[in-house]
Amino acid sequence: MTTPINADDSGSHRWYIHPVTGERFLSATAALSYIAKHELPAWAATLSAQAAIDAWSRVREAAAIEPCGRKGNDACGQCRTCVAGWLANRHNVVRDTASDLGSRFHQAIDNQVKIGPGCYVDADVQPFLDAYNEWAKLARPVFRGAEMTVINRRLGYAGTLDAVNFFSVKSTLPKKMQHLKRRTVLVDYKTGKTVGAPHAWQLNAYRFAEAILLPDGTELPMPRIGTGLILHVRPKSEGGVKMREAFLTSQNFKRFVHALRIAEAMMSPLGESLSRPAYFPTPKEA
Ligand SMILES: [Zn+2]
Repeated sequence: MTTPINADDSGSHRWYIHPVTGERFLSATAALSYIAKHELPAWAATLSAQAAIDAWSRVREAAAIEPCGRKGNDACGQCRTCVAGWLANRHNVVRDTASDLGSRFHQAIDNQVKIGPGCYVDADVQPFLDAYNEWAKLARPVFRGAEMTVINRRLGYAGTLDAVNFFSVKSTLPKKMQHLKRRTVLVDYKTGKTVGAPHAWQLNAYRFAEAILLPDGTELPMPRIGTGLILHVRPKSEGGVKMREAFLTSQNFKRFVHALRIAEAMMSPLGESLSRPAYFPTPKEA
């Protein structure tokens, strides 16, 4: 996802700022980021373990070098602490690389929709865009909107939806997706290896938003939406595009709202939940 005009990314989470009223809305994806992914620690450990084996001579040398005690750009990168930190950080690098590719893919589709084909595309994004275009040639999505910020004032969240597509009778769709024809569909592109239920909850957050927020602060009514669609885009060598319907129901919206409430609770001041520690004074303090 590209950075929307009204987004504040200065903290650990994205917030959307209303350009007229100054209201702050938590990003729907930030709310969902509080859901723990239980496979993550094992995945991160595997990456570190693999890196240690691949870079075994660097690790062996580091074991003999005392910690340099410096951080950031000043760090030596050779000592025990530096190399341990490098090993521990592998999963962040892999995750950030994947999320960066996702952002650039969204940008590439947005350029194509707004400017047309032929825009410059990064080499690593091209296989994803090729897969998308192969799908689009058959599915013929008609864009009713793209990259729109939506807000829900009552519940206090906002987000940027990828696209609102209409599929006409001329669309060629897989057998199981025939019912999308003649319908307006809320579409979200996913470029990661896997897609999960929280991605569908994210689309429910957009579907049940109250208004579209334009960059100048104008609020427009939400378009009528038939259903949700996650377009899981991978290069052709990895199967290409897979369509997953995201069921937009009050039950799934409630699941998003639960996540939102947990996120708010996790961000609330500690003092609302827990007092300062109290203890018996040691004889010296008494
Ligand atoms: Zn060091």
